[in-house]
Amino acid sequence: MFESSYPFAFFDYFRVPYAVRPELAMRDGAGAPISVHQIRTMGASGAVPRSLLWQGTDAGPSALPASCQLGRYRLRDFTFFGHVAVGAAVPGALSRFGHGWHPVEQIFNNAGHVQAAVWQDGDGSIFLPFDPAEVMQQFWSERYQQVGRSPMALRGRAALVRGYYLMRPALPRQLQLRLRRSFTRVQDQASFPGWPVEDSLHNLYAWLFGLLAKLAGQPVPFVDLWPEGRSWALVLTHDVETDVGCRSLDLLRGPERELGYRSSWNFVPLRYRVAENIVRKLQEEGCEVGVHGLRHDGRDLGSRRLLAKRLPTMREYADRWQAVGFRSPSTQRQWELMPTLGFDYDSSYSDTDPYEPQPGGCCSYLPYFNASMVELPITLPQDHTLFSILQNPDAGIWIRKAQFLREHHGMVLALTHPDYAVDPRMAEGYRSLLEWFHDDRTVWHALPREVATWWRQRACSVIGGVHGNWRIEGPASANGRIRFAYPDSSRESARVAGGDAIPGGQMRTSPVRFS
Ligand SMILES: [Zn+2]
Repeated sequence: MFESSYPFAFFDYFRVPYAVRPELAMRDGAGAPISVHQIRTMGASGAVPRSLLWQGTDAGPSALPASCQLGRYRLRDFTFFGHVAVGAAVPGALSRFGHGWHPVEQIFNNAGHVQAAVWQDGDGSIFLPFDPAEVMQQFWSERYQQVGRSPMALRGRAALVRGYYLMRPALPRQLQLRLRRSFTRVQDQASFPGWPVEDSLHNLYAWLFGLLAKLAGQPVPFVDLWPEGRSWALVLTHDVETDVGCRSLDLLRGPERELGYRSSWNFVPLRYRVAENIVRKLQEEGCEVGVHGLRHDGRDLGSRRLLAKRLPTMREYADRWQAVGFRSPSTQRQWELMPTLGFDYDSSYSDTDPYEPQPGGCCSYLPYFNASMVELPITLPQDHTLFSILQNPDAGIWIRKAQFLREHHGMVLALTHPDYAVDPRMAEGYRSLLEWFHDDRTVWHALPREVATWWRQRACSVIGGVHGNWRIEGPASANGRIRFAYPDSSRESARVAGGDAIPGGQMRTSPVRFS
């Protein structure tokens, strides 16, 4: 139902069927002020084929004209970062694709002024003055944090974070906490990403789905996010920080065992002794074991050189523990370095966490790829943040965020530490989270390695066949389902009511509020 002059990252991500036809690109024409890519809808018979056009950024920022400005923008209910073609340059570039182009949606800059627009022509085709692929990458990699900041400010900030990691082992715990709390006051003022929920990226997805279904004049099929018709995913992970944590696993494992949950445990190879029988027992219970850096000194990902020196030992422990997953200590992360770790998946990014020493957020509550590595974002606030830094009395924020993610078909990925579970608020909070979703029949309760495997299977499967007779081809065909996005651009319908009967697919609970 779609053919495109160029690969469309949004379709690739959601596994929407389309064909790349480079001959369509002939119309892109050399010497155009901006490079325009085109998806043509084949539409219902008799209908005028309409297109989604978008500004390509694939040749790199240096190839873009001055009229395409990298910045922070707002459209409808989402903030985004990327190069946007501003007003005057646009109509000229579009004359080859249609007539009667006029702005239909305003795009605001960070100061709240109208800076650009989404355009429509007389036949109803749409032009996006930005590249969805670039916008998605800006979020996933957290590169957006550099937008609008001077190189000097960025260097200063990086030095501060490095200093914190280096100093931390020498600081008494109480002082560490005081420092983190005073960071909190500064971080509260950062307006992006929102906390505990930042749904800009997912609102963009919903808007694009609505737009494309409207252009096509029919629902848009895609490979369901979770296997076997489950409507959301719940993943439990733990980092074991010290010897104390290593002796206290049962504070968290106990209630899990009782309620029938499995979880993943990340150990630090060279900080304390990890007895083989602990690893074996967890695995026998169906749990997973992962690698949590090498020494937990904040230096594993400090430089390419040090990482190269440490990696063979990390790999050795990964083999010994049959670990396929990595969690970086203090969620320290470097987008370019993560895939070089050689793990199947990484889980060191948060969807939003302004309270970490390296604050930020990839804004995604779904898995995604960083080169060949699957990234599984942490999507609940960490125990330490909630109970020690912010002094929450109970698990209210955990449960409300998890409900929000359930309603949005997302992945709830929790990170808790047995080391902190000596705090009864934390231990009780964890138990109430587990109890809350314990008999939820809509959930896919999975280990992180199972989610990574599913995400790979999904990414190399396609929807084949024709309208009315779609089928999944590839490794996801056994467990995958096809869902549809509907033309109404509102979040509800774009949020994919199913073709198949899906447990909970039609479920609607009252909106979850954060205040
Ligand atoms: Zn840790």
